[in-house]
Amino acid sequence: MQATECEAVVLAAMDYGESDRIVTLFTHEHGKIRAIARHGKKSVKRFSGALEVFARLHLQLVLKEGLSSLRTTEIVTVFPHIRDDLLKIGYAGYACEVVDRLLPEAMGNQRLFRLLVSYLEQLDAFPAGADDRRFFEVNLLKILGYRLSFETCSRCGTSVRSSSGTIYCTSAGETFCSDCGTSGYPLGQEARTLLQKAMATGRFGAIRFSENSLREAGAVLDAVVASHLTRPLHSLQFLQQVLGVH
Ligand SMILES: [Zn+2]
Repeated sequence: MQATECEAVVLAAMDYGESDRIVTLFTHEHGKIRAIARHGKKSVKRFSGALEVFARLHLQLVLKEGLSSLRTTEIVTVFPHIRDDLLKIGYAGYACEVVDRLLPEAMGNQRLFRLLVSYLEQLDAFPAGADDRRFFEVNLLKILGYRLSFETCSRCGTSVRSSSGTIYCTSAGETFCSDCGTSGYPLGQEARTLLQKAMATGRFGAIRFSENSLREAGAVLDAVVASHLTRPLHSLQFLQQVLGVH
């Protein structure tokens, strides 16, 4: 069967049997694909020891429904500075797992691919922080069609766009003005402005949240991301543990 070439980031990897490895790949060309690498545990020649989470690869594979077959891989980068730092590993692992869980299989999404790669590049080059994580999440939600909206109150229809007060957002994506906001997470004007800027610039490092806006934005984003998951993320537990000791 004809092999195809593509660029990919490894979202998940596990050993299979004596010598094989099964990987979940986010390919630039074909979206999320699960593939088996025969002798992937040992064949350095074919797989360059690169079948690890968040490695960026150039690869050859035979596309099949269900489980594709990985022929060869070449490393574009393993993001070595991420692998040196437990906190960066925590953020990168979280980003890969959340993409894995929210992206349907075999649906190309080049904007999301670019977002994930940009985030990994940012983590590799600069100190890790919560700003970049929140920047990643708000843009991830936007690209997947779950964009946070701060336009009108879901109950009374008043425009909250230019409201200077606190509004309230729910995990289901509803927005309430200050009069109607009996439920949901509070979001002040500063946090809203920064989130909107984050969605508009698309460039990591351009937005810095204050402590308060980071806390508000973080609570909303955590709730919205969790609302799209059927079970908790393993990587989030790990990230929280690492953050707790930092
Ligand atoms: Zn209202």
